[in-house]
Amino acid sequence: MISLRWRLTLWHLGLTIVSLVVFSIISYEVLSISLREEIDRTLVERANHVVDAIAVVPNRPIEGITTDRTDEFRSPGVYLQITNATGKVVSHSYNLGTQELPVDFFDDGRLSNNVNPYTTISISGQSVRLFHQPLVREGEIIGAVQVGQSYASLESTLSRLRMIYIGGILVVLMLGFFGGLMLASMGLRPLANIAQATSEIVHAEDLGSRVNYSGPKDDIGQLVLTFNAMLDRLQSLFEGQKRFMAEAAHELRTPLAAMIGNIDLLVRFQDDQESRVEAVGALQRTGRHVSRLLDDLLLLAQADAGWRLRLEPMWLDDVFMEVFESSRCSFDTHQVDLMACEPAYVLGDPDRLRQVLLNLIDNAVKFSPPNASIAMELKCLDNQVVARISDHGPGITPQNIERIFNPFFRGAKPQNHSGAGLGLTIARWIVREHGGELMIESQVGEGTKAIIILPEKPQP
Ligand code: ADP
Repeated sequence: MISLRWRLTLWHLGLTIVSLVVFSIISYEVLSISLREEIDRTLVERANHVVDAIAVVPNRPIEGITTDRTDEFRSPGVYLQITNATGKVVSHSYNLGTQELPVDFFDDGRLSNNVNPYTTISISGQSVRLFHQPLVREGEIIGAVQVGQSYASLESTLSRLRMIYIGGILVVLMLGFFGGLMLASMGLRPLANIAQATSEIVHAEDLGSRVNYSGPKDDIGQLVLTFNAMLDRLQSLFEGQKRFMAEAAHELRTPLAAMIGNIDLLVRFQDDQESRVEAVGALQRTGRHVSRLLDDLLLLAQADAGWRLRLEPMWLDDVFMEVFESSRCSFDTHQVDLMACEPAYVLGDPDRLRQVLLNLIDNAVKFSPPNASIAMELKCLDNQVVARISDHGPGITPQNIERIFNPFFRGAKPQNHSGAGLGLTIARWIVREHGGELMIESQVGEGTKAIIILPEKPQP
């Protein structure tokens, strides 16, 4: 396959040559036509001059015109011949020697007006342009004046021009070829660098390579920037994946080690009923934890693979109320208050939205001190549904707040905290799947507000 560098060079060269050839042909033809027209005009003028000179002597018979007389009009490459009314040559210029100009304008022995006054003939191997004009005296044609001019100088001018054009085209061809090749190589060097960097990445499996480019920010510069930005993104995604895998393995290893420990206990204390009951209880708890963790990991993997939620029109206030009732009953250490619950019609997945609300309330309960109150509020505002869950816990530091949506991020660890740091990651993905947004606002020492904003659907 011919390389881009060569293709560009050849295209460039081809276009240059075609334009040059077209330009040369057109200008050559225009010049040639105008030079020939110029000769035709000169011939007419010359013939008129001779006719006028002959008319000065009105009564002299046409046969009396001598060669000397015709030679008065001589100039190099110019021929003159005078014929009588029957086409017989009565005089011609010296430079014709023994030759005569062909007299082909007589029809039936009479000078015809219908014949084209111009002809082109060959004399001694040279092209000669001829023009004839009738000699009229007292309304009667008494003969004709024939003038001719050689095309020799015109042809030598045109042949010089042809040489100049051919030479010029050859020079342009050479310059265009080498210049084009050089320019294409220079212009495409960054592309070669990109190809080099790509092959390094492929061979060394190193996403840390970047293309070095110090040229202007033109199309190529832009391409290099985009390519490097793509590598940055790929590298961060790849490293994110690796981190995710390592964290997931770590999260699973701890409970699995605990499970193996408990199984060992079961085997060892065959007769100790109390220890066996304790070990089975621990096994159940850890098993549930591992199962929850695997559910979360599976959901995140599905989200990464582009899996979408099935949304249907629903009343969010029903789900909100349900979550409030169940939270009020299950969290007897905290006081859960319902501040507002306006009717809110949305397009959503009720199970997933319930999961989000429960997760946020679970966090509020986990992170705030016993007996602290937690407020729930659902309002509709400007075609948006806003759900707020506020607590009076320790709050989140500004450094941590930037990372709380990262998978496996856990800040301060309260007692009995068993979360893997995936709750908010999943909650935000679910809310975004609904076309909404999940935000966390927090003040250290004052508390945290989790805010869900969803687009409101016009009520049926
Ligand atoms: P997990 O599933 O382990 O609870 P999350 O993703 O829900 O993890 O939360 C991540 C981190 O965000 C928590 O470890 C905690 O540090 C912080 N956080 C979340 N909610 C609150 C809250 N209401 N108050 C204080 N810190 C919070």
